[in-house]
Amino acid sequence: MSRKERFGISIPAELSSKVKDVASRRGVTKSKIIEEVLRNYITESTHGESPHHCSGVIVVVKGEASPSLETLYENYKEVIVGYTHQHLEGVCVNVLFVSGASQEIENLTRSLSSCGCFTRFMPLHVREFKKGT
Ligand SMILES: [Zn+2]
Repeated sequence: MSRKERFGISIPAELSSKVKDVASRRGVTKSKIIEEVLRNYITESTHGESPHHCSGVIVVVKGEASPSLETLYENYKEVIVGYTHQHLEGVCVNVLFVSGASQEIENLTRSLSSCGCFTRFMPLHVREFKKGT
């Protein structure tokens, strides 16, 4: 186990209460919850810093005011290898399977966000799961 360091943080009381509730329900400490959240945040926010071959899925929830995404998808057809969409509770949910240059995937994700869509990219680096490579 790596060395632990203690530091103080200030967060809204209601958020602190939610962290406490989640920790209690999961049977772990609040520190464990914060550690997990920080690891995920750092991984997500630094993922795009160094160019690499990337793969994963982008979940896109189209807002009512969002324009059609077909042209955008056409512009990024080099990295979009598959696509599915489903109407869920009256909302259009798209799942894009992507593979290619991390910067292109990052640009696609940003473009989707700026269209007013809820956008979440989950890098999977599926090549790492291939046996014998
Ligand atoms: Zn990646």
